[in-house]
Parts: sequence; C-alpha cells; structure tokens
Amino acid sequence: MPDKMKAALLYGVKDVRVEQMDMPSMDESKVLINIKYCGVCPSDVRWYTGARSASSYPRRLGHEWVGEVIQIGAEVEEDFKIGDRVAPDWRVVCGKCHYCRRGIFNYCEDFGYGKVSGGFCEYGTAIPPNLRLIPSGVSYPEATFTEPLACCINGINKNSIKIGDDVVIVGTGPIGLMHVQLAKHLGGRVIACDLVEERLEVAKQVGADEVICAAKKEAIEKVKELTGGRGANSIVVAVGAPNAIEMALQMAGICGTVNLFAGTYPPAKIDLDPNLIHYKQLLVTGSHDFTPHDFTSALKLIECGVVKLKPIISHILPLERIKEGFDTVVEKKGLKVVIKITDK
Ligand SMILES: [Zn+2]
Ligand SMILES: [Zn+2]
Repeated sequence: MPDKMKAALLYGVKDVRVEQMDMPSMDESKVLINIKYCGVCPSDVRWYTGARSASSYPRRLGHEWVGEVIQIGAEVEEDFKIGDRVAPDWRVVCGKCHYCRRGIFNYCEDFGYGKVSGGFCEYGTAIPPNLRLIPSGVSYPEATFTEPLACCINGINKNSIKIGDDVVIVGTGPIGLMHVQLAKHLGGRVIACDLVEERLEVAKQVGADEVICAAKKEAIEKVKELTGGRGANSIVVAVGAPNAIEMALQMAGICGTVNLFAGTYPPAKIDLDPNLIHYKQLLVTGSHDFTPHDFTSALKLIECGVVKLKPIISHILPLERIKEGFDTVVEKKGLKVVIKITDK
C-alpha cells in the first residue's frame, strides 16, 4: 500500500491543484477503496468559484465517487470481497437523533463525518452500512450518479406526481434531465423548459414530451397553451434562479405542486404575489439532499434503465484535467462532467 496518493485540492478561488497527499486513515471497521471515478457536482463548483467560501484551505472536494474494494478491516462483518465494485453514500446518519427518529434522515443532527472519506483522489474509506454494491450491468461512470439521482428521488417524491399529470421541469442540466426521466416514469406528460437548445435536445432524447426554449413570459404562455389554459399540475425548479422560481409559480395550475430543488447562489430574493399561492391553492415545497433509502433506490433505477445516464455525461476527463472539468460546468459548456481517477 502506498503512503501517499494523488488528489485534487482547492487552494482558493479557481485554484485547484493535483498534488500528493496522505492516504486516508484506515481502521479495522472500515473498507479501503481504490477510487475509479468521481462526478463533478454543482456544489463542488460553488467552492471552486468562491460562491461558497471555505474556512480553511486546502479543501478537498468531491462526493460522487465510486471504486473497487482493495482492503477490508478485520472487524467488518458484512460480506464484502476484495474487488467488489461499490458506491459509497457519504451521508453517515446516526439513526438515533430527533430527525433520524422521525425518519427524516437527510436532516440527521449527528452525522458521522470522516467515516466515509473520498472524492477527487485515488483512495477512499467507508463503513460497510454506507456501501452499496454496483450491479454488474452498471458502469462506474453511470454509478457516480447514484448520489445526485438520490437527491432527485427525494425531490420528486415531494411533487407527488400522478399518472397523466402535466409536469414541467424548469432547467435541463444533469439534475433536470434526471427529473425528466423520473417524472416520465411516474406517468407524467413531461414539458422541459430551458434557454439552451442543445440541452432540450437531450431532454427529448431521454423522454420529454414537449420542450420549451424560451424565457419567463413566453414560457409561461407556452405552458398554458399546452395545458388547455390551466397550467401544470407539477413543476420542478431544477435551477437556482429567482426568475425561474417566479416563473414556476405562474406556470402552476389549480392545486399544483412546485418543488424548489435548487438553492440560489448568491442568496437571492424573489418577487412573489402571495395570492398566486392562496387563490390557486398551490403547494410550494423544497427538497434537500437524500435519505439512505433514496440512495439504494437510485442505484436500482440506474440498474433497470429507468434513468439513462449516458446521454447526460458530456465529458469524462482525467484527474489532471479537473480544472478544465470545473470550468466546463461553470461555463455550462456541457452536461455532466465525470473525472476519471484511476481505471485499471
Ligand atoms: Zn452531488
Ligand atoms: Zn441522526
């Protein structure tokens, strides 16, 4: 076992460097994993651009990682083998706190930080309850979507879509494109809305019934037109823009549900007529992160092809080109960027 590994570290705004760092600390309760791929998440990019600032540098990034089991601690009782392909759930919930006992695991008050550690680096560790075996038909790059897809599952469940509902997905980046497929699978007539034509092409490819390439006023009219003047039953705002949120509230029909999936950075205010919610009896909700069950469900939906990810991956880049990967996401030049760490 080497005592150092290659890792991408963030030293400040737009300053990411690939360097040698210490191996993660291993103990007998953990499994050591050789990381193969790690997806670039918009939250990684927020640290990179300085939209969120770290209290100390260098900062490690990346949580959408997958890899191969190379060492198993002596106290591990679960049935893992060397060579198993695994996706780790980075959110180690305690199961005992106020929120865990309410079943709201995504708000656990006592996360086990450090029990799962990895990212844009060659090696990671995890405790067995947080590992899922990657099914044989699922590739490593596809499996990196387990975490973001789990967030989408947590989100779309808030929309309570019924068969035959008109569902609008606002924003067709990687997250929006997963929502398109989930909404379609739930029986919705899916209308995808974005300003980037190429993204809408992919939305069609993954199952959107209608696409709208327009800004606020025109997009609202188009949704009304497509829904007999009534507005949509369900809307997912998969982009963190005040304009998109205001638009979604106007696209919603009577008793519609609007989920604000994305945070707004920098923090923003929206121009809101509360009567929109009152008189239309709207349900406006938010969603954040995911539960251990969502993580399991995500991998299952990838395995059975409910959510297709190959059309969403626009770039697979080696670790050495991670800066280019981050810039690609910042400039919205592609869709999902996945970093190849090691693939032997
Ligand atoms: Zn993520
Ligand atoms: Zn807890």
